[in-house]
Amino acid sequence: MRITALAGGVGGARFLRGLRDHLDRIPDLADATLTVVGNTGDDITLFGLRVCPDLDTLLYTLGGGVHEGQGWGRADESHRLQGELAAYGAEPQWFALGDLDFGTHVVRSQWLGQGLTLSEVTGRLADRWGLPGRGITLLPMTDSPVETHVVVEDDDGRRAVHFQEWWVRMQAKVPAEQFLAVGMDRATPAPGVLEAIREADVVLLPPSNPVVSIGIVLGVPGVRDALRGSRAPVVGVSPLIGGMPVRGHADACLSAIGVESTAGAVAGLYEDFLDGWLVAPDDVDAVKLPRATVVGRPLLMTDREAAADIAGAALDLALELRAR
Ligand code: GDP
Ligand code: CA
Repeated sequence: MRITALAGGVGGARFLRGLRDHLDRIPDLADATLTVVGNTGDDITLFGLRVCPDLDTLLYTLGGGVHEGQGWGRADESHRLQGELAAYGAEPQWFALGDLDFGTHVVRSQWLGQGLTLSEVTGRLADRWGLPGRGITLLPMTDSPVETHVVVEDDDGRRAVHFQEWWVRMQAKVPAEQFLAVGMDRATPAPGVLEAIREADVVLLPPSNPVVSIGIVLGVPGVRDALRGSRAPVVGVSPLIGGMPVRGHADACLSAIGVESTAGAVAGLYEDFLDGWLVAPDDVDAVKLPRATVVGRPLLMTDREAAADIAGAALDLALELRAR
């Protein structure tokens, strides 16, 4: 069985690790393969290095190297290099980069500088983290540079800042007027992305941020059409429980695009291709979707096993829809 998923960082990675765990515990599913299309709109160049926060969170989580409590970055991390940069007054200081994490950015930047594409580089990084051995292929959504920028207005005036500056430095407290996927007009899907959607048996949408993670991947030319045309059922998991994101500022992102912070409104963003939608038990009655099947179940990924159970429920719903 071929499973394809679109994903952002922490929510996507925890769900997909759960999915792999679930597949591994069911003998009939153990040889299923998983292709992950990762959001690269969060990517940023810092200190001359290309940083891909969502791809890195996926790599570290699926590869067993993530800082569990934090959900991103490396376990057993230190920050000596960042301290040294601060001593020189190097900017920015608001984005945390650990020493081990720096290793990823250095080698990625070196390989990109040698002319490898982001897909090729991501493939090499994934090899180191053992993803192919677990039946996982990690693809960036595109090899073209795309960056999400946010139009804001504060004491410094009205301007567009990089998504990371809004999310990390401003903590999403300055209202976003608009999200711009800079470079998207010239972007093409990375090799294998459209095929992974078209040839999938099941497509899953983890509980990733609907605007700045999944929404950005859906903006890559051809991706949305491939989902609409896919013969595979598309099943998603709500990132909102009781109208609130479990972590992060998805509500601030949704209000910027004029969408209510509810599980039903998020599903509305995927209405043209969504076949199944998992929501929290208390949200079920409020979600009315004309063409997707809605199922209520606990959706908190409190630990690895809970994530595996949620992923298993999403897969079961997809397989049931496929059999219909
Ligand atoms: P990011 O790139 O690190 O922000 O991560 P994603 O875009 O992949 O996922 C962020 C979303 O995951 C947020 O909107 C959260 O509400 C959602 N999320 C995080 N943990 C959970 C969880 O345990 N359950 C559910 N349903 N959603 C979660
Ligand atoms: Ca992200």
